[in-house]
Amino acid sequence: MEKVDITVIGAGVIGLAVSYLLSDHKKEITVIERNPSFGQETSSRNSEVIHAGIYYPKTSLKCKTCIRGKELLYELCSKHGIPHKKTGKLVVGTGNGELARLNDIYNNAIGCGIKKLTFIDKKDIKKLEPGVTAEAALFSPDTGIFDSHGIMNLFFQSARRKNVNFTFSVEVKGVEKKGLYYVITVAEPNRDLFSFQTKVVINCAGLFSDFIAERAGIDIYRNSYKINYCKGQYFRIRNPGKFSINHLVYPPPTPIDLGIHITPDLRGGLRLGPDMAYVEHINYDVCEKDKTRFLDAVQKFLPNLGLNDIIPDTAGIRPKLQKAGEDFVDFVVIDEKEKGLPGFINTIGIESPGLTSSLAIAEIIRDMVKGYVK
Ligand SMILES: Cc1cc2nc3c(=O)[nH]c(=O)nc-3n(C[C@H](O)[C@H](O)[C@H](O)COP(=O)(O)OP(=O)(O)OC[C@H]3O[C@@H](n4cnc5c(N)ncnc54)[C@H](O)[C@@H]3O)c2cc1C
Repeated sequence: MEKVDITVIGAGVIGLAVSYLLSDHKKEITVIERNPSFGQETSSRNSEVIHAGIYYPKTSLKCKTCIRGKELLYELCSKHGIPHKKTGKLVVGTGNGELARLNDIYNNAIGCGIKKLTFIDKKDIKKLEPGVTAEAALFSPDTGIFDSHGIMNLFFQSARRKNVNFTFSVEVKGVEKKGLYYVITVAEPNRDLFSFQTKVVINCAGLFSDFIAERAGIDIYRNSYKINYCKGQYFRIRNPGKFSINHLVYPPPTPIDLGIHITPDLRGGLRLGPDMAYVEHINYDVCEKDKTRFLDAVQKFLPNLGLNDIIPDTAGIRPKLQKAGEDFVDFVVIDEKEKGLPGFINTIGIESPGLTSSLAIAEIIRDMVKGYVK
């Protein structure tokens, strides 16, 4: 049976960042992706925001990897000419309850070591964004936007040049520990099954990472690895010039999502979203009827927005470990040696800020892999 050192399952931003950081000519690395190309699922259905890391509990992986990942991403974008822009972000408060929440966010961010966050008042909000009306806002200058496909392409091309073997249109069906190796069984495009051996498995299967963990024999219910699909839709502002918004403008987050926000993109467009709804099945349709709900949410701070200004855009699905009504749940990035599966590395629940965190998560995994492959 064919043998490789490392198998990465999934070529979204996490699998690509991992392959990029692990790639060198000495290791044999194979990436298995069931789609015909990389980054076709959640990694290309998001806001493309580089988050500053202001919302997450200080000791959480979300906080640590977001703050570290942000620095790494900006650096890499600058070095390789990947389009990006530090637009800055306003978290706006429009009522008493929201102002108290801004305080909580500020205190949390300061506790996390984020220094460049300031309160601004009504007048200064108008100076930055004349169309936005709010009582007060937090201004985060380090938040920005970037070309996520550009960065994924950089990871892909660079890893490929260093002999990482990418196999597309092939789906992982089974993972079984046999002695010192794992046997990976895949379905090829003609549905034939093929098996090979690998020392290390890195599960970066996004919305299906729980399925891969289960295939390896992990009880996903007992370990709280069951993924819940949480859909986020976007609407696009038809005539962005009318509003000329230059910053990201967010309401305070809810316990489950960041709230429907305004995101400028690198082509001069403006999007609203994502909203959030738990769904049973994956589909990326955008419901025209939700227009009024989007309008109500955003009119609170962009009063001139009208119903005819917005049209349905895209949607993405968050791979959430958190169920409705539950408290914060962190990313899972773990070597499953304590479950008797040394060298089987799970990444599960990599929702936002997963894009921002991708390189920092990859660094953690690079350290985990060192014990198995020199
Ligand atoms: C609406 C929305 C907005 C977001 N906005 C932001 C943002 O602005 N900033 C930010 O930092 N983060 C954001 N995120 C989060 C970010 O997009 C994700 O954290 C990130 O893309 C997850 O990447 P991934 O590689 O884990 O998953 P994916 O991109 O889903 O990649 C997983 C890959 O695994 C493959 N795969 C699955 N099963 C198998 C199998 N059996 N065999 C082979 N291949 C398989 C899939 O085909 C897929 O390509 C957002 C997410 C959503 C949904």
